[in-house]
Amino acid sequence: MVADAVYSGIWIMAPLFRASTAAVRGGEEAREVGLQLLRCTHGVVLYGPLVECQPEHRGVGPTYSIMRVLSVISAMGIVVVLKVARRGYEGEFGAMAHDIRDITIIGGGPTGLFGLFYAGMRGASAQIVDALPDPGGQLTALYPEKFIFDVGGFPKVLAKDLVKSLHEQAIQFGGTFHGGQRVTGLVETDGHLELITETDRFATRSIVIAAGIGAFAPRKLPQAAAAPWEGKGISYQVGAPSAYDGKHVVIIGGGDSAFDWADQLSPRAASLTLVHRSDRFRAHAATVASVQVAAAAGKTTIHTFHELHDVIADGGKLSEIELRDVKTKTTRRVKADHVLPMLGFVSDIGPLAEWGLQIANDEITVNSEMHTGRTGIWAAGDVTIYPGKLKLIATGFAEACTAVNQAVHWIYPEKKVNPGHSSNLAIFGQKDD
Ligand SMILES: Cc1cc2nc3c(=O)[nH]c(=O)nc-3n(C[C@H](O)[C@H](O)[C@H](O)COP(=O)(O)OP(=O)(O)OC[C@H]3O[C@@H](n4cnc5c(N)ncnc54)[C@H](O)[C@@H]3O)c2cc1C
Repeated sequence: MVADAVYSGIWIMAPLFRASTAAVRGGEEAREVGLQLLRCTHGVVLYGPLVECQPEHRGVGPTYSIMRVLSVISAMGIVVVLKVARRGYEGEFGAMAHDIRDITIIGGGPTGLFGLFYAGMRGASAQIVDALPDPGGQLTALYPEKFIFDVGGFPKVLAKDLVKSLHEQAIQFGGTFHGGQRVTGLVETDGHLELITETDRFATRSIVIAAGIGAFAPRKLPQAAAAPWEGKGISYQVGAPSAYDGKHVVIIGGGDSAFDWADQLSPRAASLTLVHRSDRFRAHAATVASVQVAAAAGKTTIHTFHELHDVIADGGKLSEIELRDVKTKTTRRVKADHVLPMLGFVSDIGPLAEWGLQIANDEITVNSEMHTGRTGIWAAGDVTIYPGKLKLIATGFAEACTAVNQAVHWIYPEKKVNPGHSSNLAIFGQKDD
């Protein structure tokens, strides 16, 4: 019997098929009209008449791109019914169960990506499960266009370029990145662990938690006037710098991101206005000084003790914003094509806090082997805490290396913890192991 959960969600039906929604809701009803489940993957359930389906198109693997599956099926004139599966569903047509892996890494930031590479290098099967759609963690979500200067081997590298290289290195042994999968639960079953997301289940022999600061989202502007303009002029993610060429840009915030972007975008924008509720800035002193120099030269305007008050549109397009002086309560208008609020982000370590790990302030205590104290679970990167901890990309790499090698040895005791030197490994075509 199909659980109620499968009936909820979004249904899309291809035009070739005449069937009531009820007819495709569950297994028995679907079979009555000649439909069967093709596959549930990436949170989408596919139904179609298997009788007309070529064998090679049945039971497509979990790593198979959903778009590819759809194009194959629709090219065959087969009906496709899509449903976004609901959290917690475990029925016959329920959560996509992925094949078991040796190591599942929660989080595809720099730490998780390097861990995926290391697992592959050690011959372990591995996968990353991440709440965000794309790899890179904070680098992708928060500062893709910023330069990083303190990663070994790169005198200077854009965050997005570092992620690209990390991803390329990570997947060379077949390890996979599952984006848009927020881990909500952990169960122990049949002698292994299983991570549960809203739509899928990931069986695994061990886990490396590389969840950084947790699943995070930008802190939103509190003013009601802002919400309708989200994505239509007000954006919490900065695009390619060239998108701001010759535009009127307003940045709201007083931290590193606000000042870094003000510094970077000021030379290309028609005008750059930095708005902050106080006159205390939380940014690096050198960047604050640089923005203040630009302000003195008239290239940037800084409004301290101001906040967003209203959004003004011209012909349905954001054209100005009204700022309010929080002390005098007076208002002023500023030209704005783009408003970039940079108010930090809210993060949530969420369900990990319920797994019996030693967690305080959203940080997991680990020992020198990066072990969490729970059998089969290690942690690495920003999410960990121990005496002398540094929250940096470079330390995350080292911790991922330690955690993964420990996990490999635990799963396969015949494999040593020490990986040896990659320059000597047969997996890279070098002379021996
Ligand atoms: C503006 C800025 C500039 C920085 N500059 C530098 C720098 O120059 N040099 C440097 O070394 N460091 C810098 N850092 C810090 C650096 O980005 C972090 O140390 C690094 O990102 C940590 O990597 P991580 O992989 O451990 O975690 P993260 O990058 O935070 O990645 C964690 C991932 O885990 C995922 N996740 C969390 N919870 C779940 C869950 N329940 N289910 C599924 N997925 C989950 C998240 O979606 C995220 O993708 C900077 C940070 C910021 C904000």
